Amino acid sequence: MNGMTRPTSASKNPLLNDWTGPFGLPPLGAIKPEHFRPAFDRALAAHRAEIDTISANPATPSFGNTIEALEKSGHDLDRVSNVFFVLAGAATSDEIEAVEREVSPLLARHSNALYLDRVLYARVAALYGRRDSLGLNAEQARLLDRYHTRFVRAGAALDKPAQDRLAAINEQLASLGTQFGQNVLADEKAYALVLDEGDLAGLPDFARAAARAAAEERGHPGKFAITLARSSCESFLQFSSRRDLREKIFQAWIKRGENGGATDNRALIAEMVGLRAERAKLLGFATYADYRLDDQMAKTPAAARELLDNVWGRARAKAAAERDALQKMIAEEGGNFALSPHDWRYYTEKLRKARYDLDEAEIKPYFQLDKMIDAAFETAHRLFGLSFTPVEVPLYHPDARAWDVTEAGGRHVGLFIGDYFARGSKHSGAWMTSLRDQEKLTGDVRPVILNVCNFSKPAAGEKALLSFDDARTLFHEFGHALHGLLSNVTYPLLAGTSVSSDFVELPSQLYEHWLEVPEILQKYARHARTGEPMPQALLDRLLATRTFNQGFATVEYTACALVDLDIHALPDAAKLDVSQFERDDLERIAMPAEIVMRHRLPHFQHLFSGGGYAAGYYSYMWSEVLDADAFEAFEETGNAFDPATAQRLRDWIYSSGNLRDPAEAYKAFRGRLPTVDALLKKRGLADAVPA
Ligand SMILES: [Zn+2]
Repeated sequence: MNGMTRPTSASKNPLLNDWTGPFGLPPLGAIKPEHFRPAFDRALAAHRAEIDTISANPATPSFGNTIEALEKSGHDLDRVSNVFFVLAGAATSDEIEAVEREVSPLLARHSNALYLDRVLYARVAALYGRRDSLGLNAEQARLLDRYHTRFVRAGAALDKPAQDRLAAINEQLASLGTQFGQNVLADEKAYALVLDEGDLAGLPDFARAAARAAAEERGHPGKFAITLARSSCESFLQFSSRRDLREKIFQAWIKRGENGGATDNRALIAEMVGLRAERAKLLGFATYADYRLDDQMAKTPAAARELLDNVWGRARAKAAAERDALQKMIAEEGGNFALSPHDWRYYTEKLRKARYDLDEAEIKPYFQLDKMIDAAFETAHRLFGLSFTPVEVPLYHPDARAWDVTEAGGRHVGLFIGDYFARGSKHSGAWMTSLRDQEKLTGDVRPVILNVCNFSKPAAGEKALLSFDDARTLFHEFGHALHGLLSNVTYPLLAGTSVSSDFVELPSQLYEHWLEVPEILQKYARHARTGEPMPQALLDRLLATRTFNQGFATVEYTACALVDLDIHALPDAAKLDVSQFERDDLERIAMPAEIVMRHRLPHFQHLFSGGGYAAGYYSYMWSEVLDADAFEAFEETGNAFDPATAQRLRDWIYSSGNLRDPAEAYKAFRGRLPTVDALLKKRGLADAVPA
């Protein structure tokens, strides 16, 4: 279609050929790490040549010869990058990591050259200046506006010395971000708490099975390994009655990236914070947070802070009451110690059992991975009419699976790939990504969307079980996937999830609500051994715990969002001691001593591994205001699948990418902007008196 001219015969490098696999997939099985560098070099050169042609065009700038031409350029670079970053996240290796370190500054340099190209910017600015007389439709006008904003925010309007400095900063930030993520992964890979059967007191069967499988993978057959993957380590903290071992794994977990030596991230953070502050100043902003939020739905750090502050005092008050209840339980058991962070999950689990007669081990057999995948699919069917058929296609790892997504009449919507199990070659966390995004500019291009998670892999022959939290993560990521799959725009820049980061969590967090809809749970929460549905009484008790421990969860999260805004509000990073800064800032906001940030700075990948959420971690809560309010739109109709509301949701949110300003999109769906009330109610904070 577009892009570089290809040799007439197929190249030996599969990345340089057309994607001719089923559903237009790349030949994932044939791609080797050594194919990437030459493919990147070629694709970068081809894109550069396309940009130069647009820039040097003697014709008067038009929407077609400038904006549309930009949208059509870089096709091969997108393809190679998409494949590469899927593998770098989910199936990495020393070889892939080496390529990543090599190409991340090259990609940053390339994008700099594009967005700092003054001749090209002059064309965009000229078009922007006469945008009202160009006869553009609404989507084209939005696209021109987005390009103009991107160029200006990148520094295209600055003088040459400022631009040179910006380019250097961006390249440096790209390298540091890559190194940061690799360091966290290295610390996670290097650590495992290898235990004998006698050390497993308190652990339910599923946790033992997962620990046995993890030990096997790490070359300790017959033993049990607790790793730093969230699901491994958190279930140990929840169930192990061995206080000494809980402390050990917890310390290892919160020290990721802060262990001294080659993988210590603190110096990298100081450097990144300094470079970001300098970048913001060059672009005319007082701080990086001001710069970052200027192009978000929140617009200013003050607006984000107002929301967080509104929640913070109430969350601390609720967490203090939770702490008192846990401490009381310790005393009643005859324990003579103060509750520590490594005790919180353990005693919370006990309290949950005492108060609701509910424990994770009783619930977990009802949350089979495969049934939860079906539950997410059925929800999409009832809301949006989508169907999912498993297909056998060559993927990059045997654990990854694919489904053909269709809608009424059998029309192909896209391909969905789910890669659910933790393994050593995968970065931690859970995310949605794509091999191809939807667009209509170069034909009816259908998306290929992935969900990557880190659920514990069961031993051979066993069924994979999720915690309720894992199930929520699955729904969350699937909500992002639908944002990509349902995308219905013409221009690639506006497709799917390419919206501001405080809006992008709306489709994902909103989707989590349907996991808790009783008819979904009744149908899909079935016992792994007996196949029996979850008894109604258990279901009721499970749903009654919705606001249980929400003080802790809200504190754990909100502290991260506040520290993020604060570190990115520094005017510079001279003498920034990252550990000291974190301590001081937590003291300033009066962080409860028994709770540790959900992500401490040395392993806070949202902020420093790429930087997608730098000064943007508040986004999750901003989006939660939207999702809580949006789900109320369904509740108000008395039907969680109300067709008219679902249609509006699809039209204005899930399918409309970045076609309009997020506040406008939300208003079109809901008829008004959201209020914080539904969020406070959802988290059980509405009645808390701020501490
Ligand atoms: Zn998300």
